[in-house]
Amino acid sequence: MPAGCSTLPERALTSKLNPRSMSFDDLAADLAALDADNLLRQRRTLESAQSARVVVDGRDYVAFCSNDYLGLAADPRLIEAACEGARTSGVGAGASHLILGHTSAHYRLEIALAQFIHMPRALLFSTGYMANIGAVTALVRRHDDVFADKLNHASLNDAVLLSRANFRRYAHVDLAALERLLAASSARRKLVITDAVFSMDGDIAPVPALLRLCERYDAWLLVDDAHGFGVLGQTGGGALEHFGVASPRIIYMATLGKAAGVAGAFVAGDEDVIDMLIQRARTYIYTTASPPLLAHALLASLEIIGRETGRRQLLASLIARLKIGIAGMRWPLMASDTAIQPLVIGSNTDVMRVSAALAEHGVLVPAIRPPTVPAGTARLRISLSAAHNEEDVTRLIDALRQVERAS
Ligand SMILES: *Cc1c(COP(=O)(O)O)cnc(C)c1O
Repeated sequence: MPAGCSTLPERALTSKLNPRSMSFDDLAADLAALDADNLLRQRRTLESAQSARVVVDGRDYVAFCSNDYLGLAADPRLIEAACEGARTSGVGAGASHLILGHTSAHYRLEIALAQFIHMPRALLFSTGYMANIGAVTALVRRHDDVFADKLNHASLNDAVLLSRANFRRYAHVDLAALERLLAASSARRKLVITDAVFSMDGDIAPVPALLRLCERYDAWLLVDDAHGFGVLGQTGGGALEHFGVASPRIIYMATLGKAAGVAGAFVAGDEDVIDMLIQRARTYIYTTASPPLLAHALLASLEIIGRETGRRQLLASLIARLKIGIAGMRWPLMASDTAIQPLVIGSNTDVMRVSAALAEHGVLVPAIRPPTVPAGTARLRISLSAAHNEEDVTRLIDALRQVERAS
């Protein structure tokens, strides 16, 4: 077996650390139960750069697994900017933003991000997970009301729990249900939270209608655009550009490790919102600033995102090609117009079997199981990228058809 091929060494180490005689036996039983339900998660080892064609555990594959929607994760211009950034700013930031880790590269990037999405201010975070935790816990507290779509990302749900605000979840994009909840609220502060593009379904939230409800009931609207930033909108400005909406009520969050191809995230909003986050967002304050070389790479990435509209056009044509190519299969494709194209398989066992069979054909597509998605809706999450070409998509379609025939 090639190096890094199995998870065995890791398991062997774990069992040495956890002798059977200890109460860790509970963990072994829990793990066995996950295994029995086909819910055990395993990691593959990527041995090439992230791209459409990858080397995994010593074998070549075409991969439909990344959120690198514009194919920028290994772009030579970003690599060069990161190297140059390391030469001028060093590797580590060495301190948090509020001590002395906030470099001129971070500063310039925040200005460039705010301009890019036409909002007054932007604040950088090290990851999207941290941005959501920091923003929500800084803006709401006990006795406030938070209204959240049931299919929101896990980091948003965790953020609300940590804030101790009342957590009111509404059925996926059910505006009538949301309006009933808003109308019944007498909280001091109300915050509606939504993914802009739902990460496991690929559909786009009705942001203008959500904003109208927020105006009517005097609520804030937090939009998590992890999968829209760079991809949606004429210039890649994301969901707000896509819909042509702007409002001082909107708190916008986007990640920089997906279409932007690097790492990190930002929250954008009015002056007061950002000033409050700098004072109160614990995941901003109590952590080391991200390596400034990442900010250098992101400045290069932003330029490319804004200028190279051909990447978004190519992605759109690949999405259309895939949808036509797998229409009418036994497994339904969910209604999505974005780069996230989920194929619902159903049971955990079946999704693992189909995913493994595709890998035999040299095509990697991740199987997504509960609790990431509701039970019984295990799915292949096909994600397309401007790094793919038409042959890659044809290869996926052919492999899916063969696996369908054989099963
Ligand atoms: C990926 C993702 C995040 C987390 O971003 P990271 O930078 O990967 O931590 C947050 N929200 C949504 C909707 C995401 O898809």
